[in-house]
Amino acid sequence: MENCSAPEVSINAPRLTIREGGNLTFECQVTGVPVPSIRWRTEQLQSNWTLQRGIWGSTLELVLHLWNVSSGDNLHNLTCEAENRAGPGEAMVQLNIEFPVRILFLREAEPQHHWCFPFAVDGNPAPTIRWLYNDTPLKETMYTYTQLIPDSDDGSVQHGCLFLNKPTHMNNGRYTLIVENKLGWDRATANGKFMDNPFDPLDPEGVIPGELRTLETTPATNQSIGDVTEKLESRLFGVSVAVGLAVFACTFLLIMVLVINKCGQHSKFGIHRSSVLGTEDDLAVSLRFMNFGASPPSSDEGTLDSGISSFVENPQYFCGIIKDKDMCVQHIKRQDIMLKWELGEGAFGKVYLAECANLCPDTDKMLVAIKTLKDANESTRQDFQREAELLTVLQHEHIVRFYGVCTDGEPLAMVFEYMRHGDLNRFLRAHGPDARILDEVKLPSAGQLTLQQMLQIAAQIASGMVYLASLHFVHRDLATRNCLVGEGLVVKIGDFGMSRDIYSTDYYRVGGRTMLPIRWMPPESIMYRKFTTESDIWSFGVVLWEIFTYGKQPWYQLSNSEAIECITQGRELERPRTCPKEVHLLMQGCWHREPQQRLIIKDIYSRLVALVKNPPVYLDILE
Ligand code: AMP
Repeated sequence: MENCSAPEVSINAPRLTIREGGNLTFECQVTGVPVPSIRWRTEQLQSNWTLQRGIWGSTLELVLHLWNVSSGDNLHNLTCEAENRAGPGEAMVQLNIEFPVRILFLREAEPQHHWCFPFAVDGNPAPTIRWLYNDTPLKETMYTYTQLIPDSDDGSVQHGCLFLNKPTHMNNGRYTLIVENKLGWDRATANGKFMDNPFDPLDPEGVIPGELRTLETTPATNQSIGDVTEKLESRLFGVSVAVGLAVFACTFLLIMVLVINKCGQHSKFGIHRSSVLGTEDDLAVSLRFMNFGASPPSSDEGTLDSGISSFVENPQYFCGIIKDKDMCVQHIKRQDIMLKWELGEGAFGKVYLAECANLCPDTDKMLVAIKTLKDANESTRQDFQREAELLTVLQHEHIVRFYGVCTDGEPLAMVFEYMRHGDLNRFLRAHGPDARILDEVKLPSAGQLTLQQMLQIAAQIASGMVYLASLHFVHRDLATRNCLVGEGLVVKIGDFGMSRDIYSTDYYRVGGRTMLPIRWMPPESIMYRKFTTESDIWSFGVVLWEIFTYGKQPWYQLSNSEAIECITQGRELERPRTCPKEVHLLMQGCWHREPQQRLIIKDIYSRLVALVKNPPVYLDILE
């Protein structure tokens, strides 16, 4: 069109930034032919506004006055539009309204991928965010950190989470969010309850030494000091009674040891975990254990015959002298243990990952696995104590390292080296062809195991078994579920307690408490409960089968009673698909019906080591 020009729009603003409640002025100037229409888009504005028109020569002007500006208009894009027959034109500025920060919400922690305390804050300039935990500053770490959720498309509102990666009872408490900018600050508190205190399952408040201080000094708690003192007194009374009983029990046991020593009674019982394999000889076993060396090893029962010659008792340690070495169950202080998260559930109770201070002179803190004893009664306490004593004695590179016990308070706990890939059965499944179906691919470095790796795993277990056999120790429950995998495919025999909750189908309950791992047992153990070094060899053959089937359950197609029938009738597990002839021959060498004809563990070990060095070529076709 002749002599026509589309509108040209510009905004003149003396200032764009103002504090909430202040006034702002924006001049929208427009030129164009024919004279354009002009308007400010004010529909979304929350602040009060007025307009004023003017003309300067050929320039039209529309002035927008904002007064008592609202923080709701912060970051609002203020637009001036003009239009004539030649077309439209527009210009835009962004409002920057400063206001004191405020917390819009802080909610109770919710379990997401990690636990999250969701919050939203609004403030301009952007606030700093920090937290208090039980009224003291919370130090953010890789396990506890604040993360803002980007792109919430909500103006200046910032949404975020305080994330806690696998918090334990140690993280229970009050979390206070404090936000601050130059105009003000705000705070809000939410409670986190992540886990009952496993150290005090009867008391959800779980008073342990560190927390005692918090209770006494925190005014926000609605308990009066009187309540707390009363509680502490009743606890102290309970502790005194427990200590009294413990002293009585120790004295009684000591007297029994002395009496039996004096009488020269020779126990014929092997060491075993009666909670699983029978209860008949609990006391005898525990006395036998403390009275090392008092009896000669029995030929048909497993014993720990290792030159253990005396037993010393003091308030800190249970000690034995084994092969001229002092063997004491080390005691670890509860305050040195910081639980991180749960790793699994075992025979005695839950197993946790923890950080432990003062364990080794050359490291400040180290990761450990803590096994706790749930529902401690006298019998489980004895099992626990016995396993601790036993583990103190067993020291080998392919036996999981035992650091000691923690007995100052409830529950009793054992401290082990942490094996980061967990139990071997799960590891095998996660590295087998069915990992995806089993949803276990999230384990690190999933990918199918090679033949050489399988042989390495087997050789390491055999090495641990050579050591146990050298002590005449009969394991009775050798299975991949009882081995642990650490960094660099290091495998160790890791469990001398039994009947895990998660693997309960691997055991067959006979009578009341007795659980038998029948699928790993030879005929003579099933029929006569006879457990020997040779019956461990049979189980080792089954472990080989488990390794080469990537963790299948032996006789998975059969019920317990059908499996018993097959084993006692002499049927053998089938050769796994990926198993070379040489390894199958080893398995068969472990499964002779006649125990004396079975291979011995030293030979199995050296044959496996040779195979690791020179892995056989095998075809994935059954010959
Ligand atoms: P357990 O009491 O040995 O049957 O342990 C139960 C579960 O806890 C096992 O299946 C493992 O996954 C885990 N666990 C036990 N001991 C350790 C350890 N030393 N390191 C890492 N995980 C462990």
